[in-house]
Formats: sequence, C-alpha cells, structure tokens
Amino acid sequence: MRVFTATLGTETNTFSPLPTGMQTFRETFLHEAGQHPDRPSLFTAPLWAARQRAKERNWQVSEGLCAFAQPAGPTVRKVYEQLRDTILADLKRALPVDMVVLGMHGAMVAEGYDDCEGDLLARVREIVGPGVVVGAELDPHCHLTPLMTRSADVLVCFKEYPHTDALERGQELVDLCADAAMKKTRPVMATFDCRQFDIYMTPFQPMRDFVDRLKALEGKDGILSVSLAHGFPWGDVPEMGTKLLVVADGDRAKAQALADRLGAEVKAMRGQAAPKKLTIAEGLERAMAVKGGPVVIADNGDNAGGGAPSDSNFMLAEILRRGIADVAIGPYWDPIALRFCQEAGEGARLRLRVGGKCGPMSGDPLDLPVEVLKLKSGHDQEFGAVRAPVGDAALIRTARGVDLVLISVRGQALGSDLFSGLGCDLKAKKLIVVKSSQHFYASFSKLAKAVLYCDTPGAISTQWGSFDFRKVKRPIWPLDGNAE
Ligand SMILES: [Zn+2]
Repeated sequence: MRVFTATLGTETNTFSPLPTGMQTFRETFLHEAGQHPDRPSLFTAPLWAARQRAKERNWQVSEGLCAFAQPAGPTVRKVYEQLRDTILADLKRALPVDMVVLGMHGAMVAEGYDDCEGDLLARVREIVGPGVVVGAELDPHCHLTPLMTRSADVLVCFKEYPHTDALERGQELVDLCADAAMKKTRPVMATFDCRQFDIYMTPFQPMRDFVDRLKALEGKDGILSVSLAHGFPWGDVPEMGTKLLVVADGDRAKAQALADRLGAEVKAMRGQAAPKKLTIAEGLERAMAVKGGPVVIADNGDNAGGGAPSDSNFMLAEILRRGIADVAIGPYWDPIALRFCQEAGEGARLRLRVGGKCGPMSGDPLDLPVEVLKLKSGHDQEFGAVRAPVGDAALIRTARGVDLVLISVRGQALGSDLFSGLGCDLKAKKLIVVKSSQHFYASFSKLAKAVLYCDTPGAISTQWGSFDFRKVKRPIWPLDGNAE
C-alpha cells in the first residue's frame, strides 16, 4: 500500500480584522514534506495514523507539506496558492499511490476562494484519477461543500466539541480509506443540509446522546461512518451551515436515507444544542452567587480559536468596575504589553496599556497599574494528548489579585496550565475567565465549581444580528426564522 498524506487548514472568520499570511502558518504549524515532528498534532492526525499503520502493515507513506494557521481572517491569496501548489507538487512526486489522506479543517477561505478544501480536493482528484482513494479528516466547524463530497471518497469529521477525538477519527479515516483501496469496501457519501447553523456542545444533552448514537450506527448494516458537520457560522460563504454526512458501503440510497433521518433530528434540536449564553452582567452576578470558587466563565466572543483577536477588554473592564477580587483572566494576545513587561522584568511595577488594540471588536484599551509576577519564554498548555505553544508569556497582577496572562503567539485558553504554569494559583481564585468558547472545558471543568458561558461582544459573538452576512445561502435558521 502506497499512501500520500499532507495537511492544509485554518478556520477562517470572515469577520475577523486579522489577515492570515505566511507568518501565522509559520507560528502555528508549518512543516515541509518529510519534516513533520515525531509527535501527534490536532490537524495532522491522518499523517500520524498513517505512520502507525505503516509500521504495523509495512505500508509506504509519502508525507507532503503540513500547514495549519491559528484561525483569523481570510488567507492571503498568494499564500493559499503557494501552500496548495506545494502539496500538489509533493503528491506528484509521490506517485503512484493507492490512497491520499489529508488533514483539513474545512472552513478555510482565501481571497478569491470561498471553498479552499473543495478546490484542493478537486485538484488532488484531477492528479490521481478516479481509481485512487481520496479521504480527508475535517473539523466539525467546516463548510461541507458539494465540491468536497464530489471530489473525495471518504470524509470524516471529529465528533466531539471540545475536539478531543482528532486522533481517533484520523485513525478511522485511514482505516476506511485502506479498506476501500484494498477493495474490501466501496464508500459512497450522502449529505443532508439542515438549513441552519448553531453551536453544538457535545458534553451536554441533547448532543451527548446524539453523538453516542452516531457512533453506535457505524461499522454495521453497511454504514461506514456518520459525521455531523456543525458548520462555522463566522465564515460567511454560500455553503455555511449544518450538514449531516453518511458514508455507506456501496449503497447510496441507504446513505441518503440515514442522512435524511438524522438530519431531521438535528433540525428538531434547533436552539437546544448548547447552554444558554449569559450577558456579562448576568455571568458575573451568577458567578458571585456561587459559594466558593473558582467559577470558570467563558469569554466566548473573543476566542482566538474562532478567529477573534483575543485582546478584548469587555469582561475585564466590568470585573474591575465591580471591584471583584481574585480573578485569573486570559490569554491576552498583546505582544506590545508583553514586550513592556519583558523590558521591565519580573517584580517590576508599571502602568501598562492592556488589550483593545486590534480593532473596534476588541473594545477600548485599559491603562492599568500592574506588577509583573512571572515571565517565561516558550510557554505552552495542554490540550488532550497534545501541547499547544503560546510563545512567550507573562503573568501580571493588577488590583486585588486580578491576574492576567499575556502571550506572544495568539491562541485560546485550552489547559489550566496556561495559568498554573506561570505560578498562578487557580484554586485560590474566585473567577477564572477564559478567552475560549468550549475547548477550555475538558481541562478547566476539573477544577471549576461552576462553568458559565458569556456572550461577550467580539468577532465570534453569537449575537448574530451584529454580523453583516452577505454570502450565505438564505433562508437559514436562525437568521430567517424557521427555515426549511
Ligand atoms: Zn472546531
């Protein structure tokens, strides 16, 4: 078996003020053909799985470019084209192959390309022809487009949000593609378009049961794989929205019937798939009413993982205005403030302009008296089985035990060691405010008295009326009432 694998992805927030260029790829994850490190990562799981199988089964694996960028605004056109063309050249060098397995996010938008994954998959298909199995692993926050399903044989999304199952799903993808390449199966795909978008959090009901049922359907009665593509609401492209995907063995009608049935169930869950989000005032009041702590509050609107800058001050300003003590908040992507702290050194006290720098969605900056508690170069945080680097970091304290984490490489809060790794004693805090939507949950819920979700303003707020949607196909729920 000859396998080609590569990765290209990011999650494009078309409303974000941050351009995605080569530097963001370099900072996040960029390894040329054959240079992938000897450890798993979230978006190169197919490569990792292919390496494992190669050892067990004596496969030959050719590894192409692996590139992933922290979510931000649209990718610069020539950067996308350069990365894509590098992968295609790597593939041509690897020919002949029996299968191609790609790591993708599925919501990459570049200048001039609303569907980067469809574009790349179609070009891969053109090169390898119809006889080679082409598969890709996707984040459920993808735009599952007809060009993608037409061009690939097997697409598999992570099932969990938070995305704790990337490696498992990568393994499944590789095994499904290998079975097809060995002619043991003949995968066919069918989708159901739910005409909606929503946030689907899988630790909670009704999603927990739904995901467990999807898993139970797989591997029997001719059903190979079932995925719920949640969609990525902040990517304003025609195909944005929730879709149900079924991969069956040879029987397209069966795949379609199951996709239709499960898709109808998803439609029936509209508005119930995530905990109700609170305003900042509601969140803080509810947190203060909890006896003891820490209470974890998600600063949803400023989640770097969805393309937001991660430097907004709406939550911090209100905490300071209310005089709430013993708070940890972060991460703040503020390289300038971090630089000032590094210059001043540990133990320094200074007035520091924090946050509010990236644009109107970040709110105003705050000028605060701070003490530099800790500086660290090469800080990182846990996320499931992998570690996520955040570059240089500082822990600073402003009034009454309110501690902030500043970082130099933009990213969301994933693991509690983002704070504790800098010496911040989270158990002694009343509040922990994480700039994240849901990926923080696996780690922070372990030490939380309660977890609350606040719909703060920002580039990934769920106040849908604050965004100027222009390209998404209408009607769609919740923008247009009960869209069918
Ligand atoms: Zn995602």
